[in-house]
Amino acid sequence: MQPWSEIKCHQENRPGDYMASIMSRYVAVNKDPPPLLNGSLDDLPVVKAEVNHGRWIATCGAGCGHALLLSVDAEVYLCSDCGMGWQQVEWPKDRTKIEAVLLKRPHDVRAEPEPASRNWIPGETIKMLREQNAEKGIS
Ligand SMILES: [Zn+2]
Repeated sequence: MQPWSEIKCHQENRPGDYMASIMSRYVAVNKDPPPLLNGSLDDLPVVKAEVNHGRWIATCGAGCGHALLLSVDAEVYLCSDCGMGWQQVEWPKDRTKIEAVLLKRPHDVRAEPEPASRNWIPGETIKMLREQNAEKGIS
């Protein structure tokens, strides 16, 4: 596989289990075990997945600035930097289409470590992404 031939997730960048990784980061920062994750995920605050420099990430709903590289099927997010704790990850319904449009954007691995133009934030439509591509001459 070529580098950055897909929108990356936790699995491509960091070996190991996503849940184990985010909980161990919590322990490392807080010197305490993470809060228990029990009850329905629907009771948790929601964070929306976004694409940042070619990676699926989410940022803490409390606005503390904490961000995580999501696993490809992440259902939860754990902030280790503020008291927000567990949050439910909401993925866009048109995720596959978003990825397809963003992957048309070039990435020169010699010029930059990450494809800086591959970004998507909740609310941006496929039409908007295609228009951004067209402005750069990408069909
Ligand atoms: Zn936070």
